[in-house]
Amino acid sequence: MKRDTRLVMLLLLVIGCSLTSLTIWKVLSSRDRALAEVDVHGLNLTQALNTYTEGIVRQSSLLLLGLVERLETEGSGPVQIQRISTLINRQQPLMPQLSGITIYDHQGRWLLSSNRAIPEGANSSDRAYFIHHRDDPSAEPFIGPPIQSRANHEWVVTISRRFNDAAGNFAGVVAVTLGVENFLRVFGKLDVGQEGAIGLSYADGTLLVRYPFREQDMGRNFSSSPIYSKYLVDQPVGTAAYTSSLDGVERLYAFRKSETLPLITTVALGKHEALAAWRIEAALSAVVVAGLLGLTGLIGWFLILDIRRRTAAEEALRVAQQQLLDSNRQLALLAKKDALTGLANRRCFDETLAVEARRAQREGTSLALLMLDIDHFKRFNDAFGHVAGDACLQAVSTLLETCVRRPSDLVARYGGEEMAIILPATDNAGAAVVAQRILTRLQQENITHPGSPFGHVSVSIGIATGTGSRLEPVLGLVEAADTALYGAKAAGRNGFNVHPADRLTSPASGS
Ligand code: GH3
Ligand code: MG
Ligand code: MG
Repeated sequence: MKRDTRLVMLLLLVIGCSLTSLTIWKVLSSRDRALAEVDVHGLNLTQALNTYTEGIVRQSSLLLLGLVERLETEGSGPVQIQRISTLINRQQPLMPQLSGITIYDHQGRWLLSSNRAIPEGANSSDRAYFIHHRDDPSAEPFIGPPIQSRANHEWVVTISRRFNDAAGNFAGVVAVTLGVENFLRVFGKLDVGQEGAIGLSYADGTLLVRYPFREQDMGRNFSSSPIYSKYLVDQPVGTAAYTSSLDGVERLYAFRKSETLPLITTVALGKHEALAAWRIEAALSAVVVAGLLGLTGLIGWFLILDIRRRTAAEEALRVAQQQLLDSNRQLALLAKKDALTGLANRRCFDETLAVEARRAQREGTSLALLMLDIDHFKRFNDAFGHVAGDACLQAVSTLLETCVRRPSDLVARYGGEEMAIILPATDNAGAAVVAQRILTRLQQENITHPGSPFGHVSVSIGIATGTGSRLEPVLGLVEAADTALYGAKAAGRNGFNVHPADRLTSPASGS
């Protein structure tokens, strides 16, 4: 029963452990999945944004190439500039991202501005792109750092090309300005959450555009941030996760370096935010599993209680049963015993004699029966009273029991002061030995009996022995022993008398 309880506990433990570990495993793997999905999402976004940016830059470069071509072949005189201005005015609506096109001469003076009147004495010779083209003979377009327009303070990114005069010397710069505002409008349409950010940087880490817009970040160099210093070093595309040194927020970054331009697109999503849905799912799982575990535990507890209750009931039943068996055995013993002498009673004698007679028949052995009667017992009673008579009966009984040796021998009280002794597998000679032993022991015991001619308590014994079919009916043996007993009495008492064997050979002669 204790084993049952232990088994239930083991079962509960196994269920609890497997449910918990399964849930933890499921929750952890779904977290990994959620993070992987964020990475894929980020990479897809960088791909789309990169394509968008490349498209704009390519369009701008083409536009610039056309203008440079014209300026170099036709020159940059007022007439030519006027014609270019007309062309630009027709082209500009086709490129909504363009905030303007400006042409500078070799000293940085403004020759043309597509979107506003040229300010008096305007000169941009200090701008990075102008300095770059003046000092670098390359005809390649240059993407400059973001600058704030001197006129309307709008942040712009410039893409510029140099143009030469007929002699091949530096003649000026054509620059396209792209409003950061336009990029922000596109970036803003993408959902990157509250903690997310989208960035467009120059390959050296200079930030061109960041969404959400932060004035202080414009033109800042982020080359020391892990993306540039660690990840982009050996891979053009990838993902990373780290805590921002700027605001302490842990983010998941996807970055992509343009294959054709020195530009890098990064998309960052707040890790905490990205895992919000997962957290809700995990919490739900935990609640459901905790509930299930609690329920299982409760059922198990009830089961254990039930087992304990049943065990206790079974134990009580077992004790009661044992008590009943004990008292039954006691009763059975009492039913077989004579109350005064403690010898087997008459009923036990009858049963045993029947059993032993059958056994003797079966096994072909002889069965001896001794019938004893205390001599002149009436006188003993008369002399000492019935209480002393009872004590004498008890003393004789105890003595008789010491005179038989085998476990199968039975001494019984036949009735009154008559006893009977059943001796299985014993013949007349053996029975005579026992009878003589009894007589001798009684003489040695020497229980005073003033009414007896022998001076002590003595018995007369009748012996009868039977074998085989002569034991049927068994009463014949009792009668024979009785007859022999009378013979012993008649012969003067304090002696034994063997029933003549020939009388026993015929069943009819027993009566
Ligand atoms: P004998 O057998 O030698 O012929 O003489 P006896 O005096 O024994 O004769 P009988 O068998 O007629 O008497 C038996 C007496 O034994 C009668 C009764 O008073 C006494 N007796 C029988 N059962 C008990 C008993 O349980 N207790 C006592 N104290 N006496 C008993
Ligand atoms: Mg008698
Ligand atoms: Mg007698």
